[in-house]
Amino acid sequence: MKWYQLDVESVEQKLLVTANRGLSDKQVGERRKQYGLNVLEEEKTTSKWLIFLKQFQDFMVLVLLAATLIAGLLGEYIDAIAIMVIVLVNGFIGYFQEQKAEKSLAKLKELSAPVATVLREGEWVKVPSSEVVVGDVVRVASGDRIPADVRIAKSTSLETEESALTGESLPVMKHASSIRRDHLDPQDQVNMAFMGTLVTRGTGIGIVVGTGMNTVMGQIASLMVKTKKMITPLEHKLAELGKILIAVALALTALVVVVGVYQGHQLYEMFLAGVSLAVAAIPEGLPAIVTVALSLGVQRMIKKKAIVRKLSAVETLGCASVICSDKTGTMTENQMTVKEVYLNGKHLYVTGDGYDIRGDYFLDKRKLESDFPNLESMLLYGALCNHAQLKVKKGKYFVDGDPTDGALLVAARKLGLQPTNHQYRIIEEFPFDSDRKRMSVIIEDENNRRFVITKGAPDVLLPRTSFFIDESGRKLLKSADKRNIEGAINKMASKALRTIAIGIKPISNRDSFDSALLEKDLTFIGLYGMIDPPRKEVKSAIAECREAGIKTVMITGDHEKTARAIATHLQLLPENGLVLDGYQLNQMSPSELSDIIDRVYVFARVTPEHKLKIVKAFQEKGHIVAMTGDGVNDAPAIKASDIGVAMGRSGTDVTKEASSLILMDDNFATIKSAINEGRNIYENIRKFIRYLLASNVGEILVMLFAMLLALPLPLVPVQILWVNLVTDGLPAMALGLDKPEEDVMKRAPRSPREGIFARGLGFKIVSRGIVIGIVTLIAFMMSYQNNPDNLVYGQTVAFTTLVMAQLIHVFDCRSEKSVFSRNPFENMYLVLAVLSSLLLLLVVIYFEPLQPIFHTTFLGIRDWMFIIVLSSLPTVLFGFTKK
Ligand code: ADP
Ligand code: MG
Repeated sequence: MKWYQLDVESVEQKLLVTANRGLSDKQVGERRKQYGLNVLEEEKTTSKWLIFLKQFQDFMVLVLLAATLIAGLLGEYIDAIAIMVIVLVNGFIGYFQEQKAEKSLAKLKELSAPVATVLREGEWVKVPSSEVVVGDVVRVASGDRIPADVRIAKSTSLETEESALTGESLPVMKHASSIRRDHLDPQDQVNMAFMGTLVTRGTGIGIVVGTGMNTVMGQIASLMVKTKKMITPLEHKLAELGKILIAVALALTALVVVVGVYQGHQLYEMFLAGVSLAVAAIPEGLPAIVTVALSLGVQRMIKKKAIVRKLSAVETLGCASVICSDKTGTMTENQMTVKEVYLNGKHLYVTGDGYDIRGDYFLDKRKLESDFPNLESMLLYGALCNHAQLKVKKGKYFVDGDPTDGALLVAARKLGLQPTNHQYRIIEEFPFDSDRKRMSVIIEDENNRRFVITKGAPDVLLPRTSFFIDESGRKLLKSADKRNIEGAINKMASKALRTIAIGIKPISNRDSFDSALLEKDLTFIGLYGMIDPPRKEVKSAIAECREAGIKTVMITGDHEKTARAIATHLQLLPENGLVLDGYQLNQMSPSELSDIIDRVYVFARVTPEHKLKIVKAFQEKGHIVAMTGDGVNDAPAIKASDIGVAMGRSGTDVTKEASSLILMDDNFATIKSAINEGRNIYENIRKFIRYLLASNVGEILVMLFAMLLALPLPLVPVQILWVNLVTDGLPAMALGLDKPEEDVMKRAPRSPREGIFARGLGFKIVSRGIVIGIVTLIAFMMSYQNNPDNLVYGQTVAFTTLVMAQLIHVFDCRSEKSVFSRNPFENMYLVLAVLSSLLLLLVVIYFEPLQPIFHTTFLGIRDWMFIIVLSSLPTVLFGFTKK
């Protein structure tokens, strides 16, 4: 017998579990030991050794090693060993950087790992999907990814999309009853749901029968295409740039060697110097440092509750020019409280805060009791046509489920109403979704009488009603009555209240469960008006975005008036700003929409389908769009946007998978922080590229100038390699951790087409590089001419000047403006990096045993004064210009 052939009770018996209690913690522990984690085995990751060895596969490093070998054979042991050690240390650093990048990427994956809702010891809990075991009772709803292979035990309009398994993209309806037939293919096992497939509609409960590699997905996992490592646009650009830089560096180095030999230097000496110079000047590590900087930024974002799913999003974030944000839950708290009820043609007011069940109903000043006509039945209907649960923890009430539904439960409890299962049985449920904007249930009461309750957006419900009730009973709904209700809706909505209408219809036991037939000719009962307070941080976040040249757009399924009221309160909607609703959107062609879209700030009464049109219209206008979403239907728009933003708490697996950013707290303000961080990371990357390249220009030029002037080598190979390792290494990393300049959120968004050297960066690199080269040369020439017999002295002065010039210049790289515009002690990492480089410099100069290795000698106080003056010139001079 296969699982699909057994009925639910037999499955329960076989797996020693009941669908209404779930497994015990002890069972879970045992089964995890027995079956292992619920994961598909992945291919082995690259071994640590390979990563380490990879650091040496670089062509120039190999050439350097060969050259060192030759040097060793020629008897230059000290140089050979020193170079070897430096190359080895360099390899270690590269290795650790790569490890770090790898680790943080793995951590990212972990953070965005899917979760499953399982019943354990009678409580619904969320656990990582990897911890689901055989026998677990799982609950799924539309938008979820099925965590393991499950036998459906209960389903309400449950449909799944199994294209991942079968290639068939039409959803399959799922139910619980057993199937007799033998040898069914997975797609015909309609009482089973399979790991990795998607719930597109409805809800269901199932019992896990297979996990990990023992699932249908597990069997075909080996056939699946492995995902390739994604490289971000910036990494790509840098790789391209890298090729050019390598060519330039090699050409210049060759020139140094040729000129050197021509001027009478030994070929072998020039060869070693040239190779060292090439190794130092080729920024082969740049892409790796960029990855490290990006992933460090990702970690900082995690602290701010933003999970970046794709590294490339870090870059794109900095370019965002429009944020399209859901209102409910993202800009507001999603803490609904019913404040007003419209019943019998009157507005009743409700007291009480949040989900606290204390509160009363008032008509004018009069407190109402349950005998007020229709009040009790309206509140009862609201509590029955409901998918949430009201729970207490430490004396505080909270809602498990949809906050809108939760508010209705609280509203009923304020009058002491709490319908039980014996009185009313739910026969069928048509769940709420943002397209239908309504939800219905079929209820059977104690006397076996059935009726439909429908609640939803008033403008959706009203066309489906034919009757209404008031104190004197049920009446035909005439257009005048309709206008009265519409007036009440508008009145509530303009007070920023979220409105819900509720209606019922008695049906017979023979009526079919077809929502199209059931949700019409309803009797209108009343309206609920609930508040959903805006989140505190949102108003200022919107203002900050505006200053940063980013437009915030509110998107909501709510009533236009409600949306407008909240948008005005948040100061999102300027005076001449437009509010469009779903109906108007439908009338517009894509080009008509993009013509006016720059003036639109609020989209109301839209369905998720509209979001795609909105994203496209903004993109048409050249905008870089961030779009938020939570439901399944939001996924296409999220995918189409430049930065798809999913909700961490309320979001479904599908939207999360389509997104590049997940907000752990569902908060709009978190998007702003992420953009802020994204801009900062990009600026920091520019900072260290600037620093590294300017340093390299300086290093090459001093050698080239010296050769052209027929001077001896100003720097020996070990010194060049040392500079590459120490001076270029630590401070560059510290620049990656720099704080943003004060005005990063006051500039317009960066254009995604902007090159790396845009905004004067190229000029900065070359100009500083040239001056660093010149001052180093001057330092060398003067000290060498004063002491022609002591070349080591001249080289020590040149080496020290070069190092000092770079260590001072690093502070210049922190600002797009002038070095004087920033406090150098702001970035303590940088100060420490510079101090340790300085310390290492002093060690190679003053620690006698190292002197022969690094070709250095003692420097006196006058030498230092001379060096400091020269080495601060490149930075100080440019500090006074604006370029
Ligand atoms: P948003 O999330 O932007 O507020 P929704 O699509 O969730 O938009 O809701 C649209 C409208 O549907 C709401 O204004 C409300 O009238 C109605 N609605 C929302 N939640 C429910 C629910 N659980 N049951 C019935 N109607 C609902
Ligand atoms: Mg909603």
